[in-house]
Amino acid sequence: MCGIVGYTGDKECADILVNGLRKLEYRGYDSAGIALFEGDRIRTVKAKGKINEGLAPRLAQQPHFSASAGIGHTRWATHGEPSDINSHPIGNGRVSIVHNGIIENYRKIKEFLTEHGYGFESETDTEAVAKLLDYNYNGDPLDAIIKTVADLEGAYALGIIFREHKNMIYAVRKESPLIVGQGDGEMFIGSDVTAIIEHTDKYYLMEPGEIAEISKDGATFYDIHRNIIEKELQTADWDVSAAEKGGFAHFMLKEIHEQPDALKKTIHPRIKDGMPDFSECGLTDEKLNGYRHIYIIGCGSAMHAGIVGKYIIESLARTPVIVDMASEFRYRNPLLSKDDLVVVISQSGETADTLEALKLSNKIGADTLAIVNVVGSSIAREAKMVMYTLAGPEISVCSTKAYMVQTAFMYLLAFRVAYARGEISEQETKQLIAELNEIPDKVQKCIDSQEQYQKVAARLMSADSLLYIGRGLDYALSMEGSLKLKEISYIHSESYAAGELKHGTISLIEEGMPVIAVATQHDLYKKTVSNVKEVKSRGAMVVFICGEDMEPAENDIDCPVYLPSARDMLMPLVAVVPLQLIAYYTAVLKNCDVDHPRNLAKSVTVE
Ligand code: GLU
Repeated sequence: MCGIVGYTGDKECADILVNGLRKLEYRGYDSAGIALFEGDRIRTVKAKGKINEGLAPRLAQQPHFSASAGIGHTRWATHGEPSDINSHPIGNGRVSIVHNGIIENYRKIKEFLTEHGYGFESETDTEAVAKLLDYNYNGDPLDAIIKTVADLEGAYALGIIFREHKNMIYAVRKESPLIVGQGDGEMFIGSDVTAIIEHTDKYYLMEPGEIAEISKDGATFYDIHRNIIEKELQTADWDVSAAEKGGFAHFMLKEIHEQPDALKKTIHPRIKDGMPDFSECGLTDEKLNGYRHIYIIGCGSAMHAGIVGKYIIESLARTPVIVDMASEFRYRNPLLSKDDLVVVISQSGETADTLEALKLSNKIGADTLAIVNVVGSSIAREAKMVMYTLAGPEISVCSTKAYMVQTAFMYLLAFRVAYARGEISEQETKQLIAELNEIPDKVQKCIDSQEQYQKVAARLMSADSLLYIGRGLDYALSMEGSLKLKEISYIHSESYAAGELKHGTISLIEEGMPVIAVATQHDLYKKTVSNVKEVKSRGAMVVFICGEDMEPAENDIDCPVYLPSARDMLMPLVAVVPLQLIAYYTAVLKNCDVDHPRNLAKSVTVE
């Protein structure tokens, strides 16, 4: 959530900051702003709204000015409505900051500062930090930062400039992520690599509690006691094109198209001699055989990938799996023990609730495995074992390729657990892996038949509310389909276990209400068809998604969608594609801002 960028070098800073903020807009887009060293003062320009609606026109109105260092921010408001005044950077002319996260004790700090003569303009928690820095500042920025962070509770990544320390940038973080980019005679800060990748692929990952002092020639890192820390320079393993739309209308569409490739990149390195292999993280067969339960924890789509995981691990490996949303798990005193494995799933590796659930699991002494996309992220570092999905950056707020590879990981895990526990033979495991290897081509086939999804979208676009139904794995898929649609098209939808419908929810069905039935499982097919008949006879407009080898009862169906067939167990990887594309085209037809849905932001670093 929220994007931070900073630059110091010889180039025109405003352009670099605004470009960096554009790259980070997927993290927050309530408002945006920059603060620059101009002569011997700090000049701030900020505005409510997306960059093109607020900051960019406001900058264009400014008389020309030149600056070669500064900080920028694109906000996802937590404290105070999106407004010019609540936008970052926030400061008082002597010190200016950009902040990602939430300061939990900001009221107490404000009270203290008010007693010491400070006034407050904004409703943000951030202003308390800016003013506390000013209060603690006596000419030495490091000293001011050390004193200030000692009093902060909550989560923060901060980019800070002091008027008297021209062209220097300071940074510090706890919980919220921050990197320091190293160029040739120029340096950057960023919430993630996308902000700086067009300038450099070299960066330092800041650890919690570290402070960076940055000039154009380099960065010095300190711990909280002012000792210098040596840090390793990292190299991003993807290039600038990964953060560009590359001819697609939206990042979401581009990322849907990237799924076959992302699947191959994630699956292939984890197959050795035809078997799923977890040795890179130290997850041995002995361990897998010993766990009493497997917990899978995530939020949103990551949790939905976990639900697919539950179905397949339990059915193949006969091991109990508990799936939990991170925000519930962490506060419900879970019945977790040292003999359990906790798998946490997060694209960004920074999801605040998932990170806390992981910390709790570590504290209880369970084994923990993180499945994350962003290398070196907080969750990756906190877990005892980590496996990376290799999807490349996911920019669209609405997750597609990250869900796809997280789900693929669930299969690799299920196969290995089942094998380790003697529930399936080596030969059966290899057969499953061989079929998993065929999935990227089937996903491609789905992507290539977009016309059928566009037809469905045309039928959905004027709906107020709709239902997704399915049984078993199709129910798990329905949850993801429903989430995609509501996230980006703002149509209310619910997912329901098809068999549960008649216990209450069927009362919602009225003439013309769309019901999207997912029916990819042969053993449940007839049951789902019966449920479809029930809704059809009450007036529903039925979209029916099934394998091409299945024959839907045409009379009961308004819009059939056919999928390439695969083994039933593997069908979620195939069938999610139409669900993604139906949501996408519906949002496009409704003229919604697909990549920046209202109220949402990528990488949820607050509770
Ligand atoms: N809590 C801060 C605010 O509401 C920062 C939010 C963010 O991370 O964008 O201004």
